[in-house]
Amino acid sequence: MWDAIVVGGGLAGWIAGIRAVQRGKKVLLVTEGVGTLFYFSGIFDYGEVERLRHLPKHPYTLFDSQAIVQGQHFVQEICPDYVLTDTPQFAFAVLGTVRQGDLMPSSMALPDRQERGEFVLLAPEGLKDFFPEIVVANMAREFPGWQVTVKRIQVKALAEWTRLGKSVSSIDYANIWRTEEGQSTLAHEIAEIKRQYSEAGRPQEKVFIVLPSLVREYFDASRTISYRTEFSLPVLEMSSFVPSPHGRYLAEYLKHRFTDLGGELMIGARAVSLNAELVTASKVKSCQGLIVHSMGKSLCLKGKKFILATGGLLGGGIKVGMARKSIREGVFDLPLFVPEEWSEPQFLAPQPFAQIGVETDQFLRPLDPANGQVVWDNVHVVGRMLAHWDPWTQRCGGGVAVTSGYAAAELI
Ligand SMILES: Cc1cc2nc3c(=O)[nH]c(=O)nc-3n(C[C@H](O)[C@H](O)[C@H](O)COP(=O)(O)OP(=O)(O)OC[C@H]3O[C@@H](n4cnc5c(N)ncnc54)[C@H](O)[C@@H]3O)c2cc1C
Repeated sequence: MWDAIVVGGGLAGWIAGIRAVQRGKKVLLVTEGVGTLFYFSGIFDYGEVERLRHLPKHPYTLFDSQAIVQGQHFVQEICPDYVLTDTPQFAFAVLGTVRQGDLMPSSMALPDRQERGEFVLLAPEGLKDFFPEIVVANMAREFPGWQVTVKRIQVKALAEWTRLGKSVSSIDYANIWRTEEGQSTLAHEIAEIKRQYSEAGRPQEKVFIVLPSLVREYFDASRTISYRTEFSLPVLEMSSFVPSPHGRYLAEYLKHRFTDLGGELMIGARAVSLNAELVTASKVKSCQGLIVHSMGKSLCLKGKKFILATGGLLGGGIKVGMARKSIREGVFDLPLFVPEEWSEPQFLAPQPFAQIGVETDQFLRPLDPANGQVVWDNVHVVGRMLAHWDPWTQRCGGGVAVTSGYAAAELI
């Protein structure tokens, strides 16, 4: 029997799983896929925490400020390159515009606009949907007074590919930069830029190389081999198009971190229902096990506690049927909060369906919205599965996933 079974391998599930094993618990994480992590920019958005904590039923209302900070420190502990500052941080989005973020790798954080400098955009040949002219124009607009130039870069391994006019994805390039050829190509190009500045007698102190698709953080000492080549000029990473290399490597890293600590993992396995229930003295139901489908077999997994991190509508945790407004939570059949109207005709307005999810008490135990009673005593709901928030308009996706995942692990 496991101390906890975490269902779902998205951001919330990995954070919960890693923290629980770190606390010495025997944990199994069961996941069907990778969730929305492959879209993740590499930047944790927390949103305006204090304002959101005052919105009725927003997940942040379940936690005190200290719990939110603890989650942030945990991210920094497991991803040491991440920096948290008192003032907002900014990074280049893939179009060269500037995007705010709350917790981001130091390699993404932009310098102060007031300190005039220069950007040299390294534009990898054939990078899919990447238009250096547009990027440079946007960068120049965002950083008035800064000089922005572009230098195209070609990798031998992809020369034939780009000659044939085939585009290369951000993930392909991120992989290339991890190879010896990629590392030496980058090091050579950057050294060449430095040499040109030097020969022209131009100052280099404020020159930043900007590169899409480079993912330099996430790997702990034992896994960091050649990725951390120190370049002769500082390199700023941009966020990428989806599928995002940052999200992909973060997912890989979290998986390794979990298993390295002793967490057990079932990938490609779908939790379909609960196995048995028990009514406790306080008349609240307690779940004893889960039925999981894996590799054509049906298994019954026993656990003391369960963390539901199945990601709501996008993650696959909430199923919507063909019949109008037929909607259900897919594992425990938990009651859901569902707004009267699901959509708002104005495209960019907050969409009510984003609020669909499970209401919980402060211990993240599911509640029945009809009567406010706890439904399962030993189930904790985290991440996108929680009701009453909107990651798009409130820009707090990573914040809610980390805070709730971390808090649930503390309850195991
Ligand atoms: C396009 C996009 C971009 C985003 N970018 C950012 C960003 O840059 N920064 C940021 O802070 N936030 C971002 N977010 C928001 C953030 O990614 C999410 O809020 C957060 O990752 C939700 O994590 P989660 O673990 O709750 O769910 P998910 O990531 O959806 O994970 C759910 C997991 O559960 C698994 N699962 C589902 N059902 C079952 C089942 N029955 N059995 C087993 N496994 C199951 C899925 O396979 C998946 O692994 C973005 C969201 C989207 C959609």
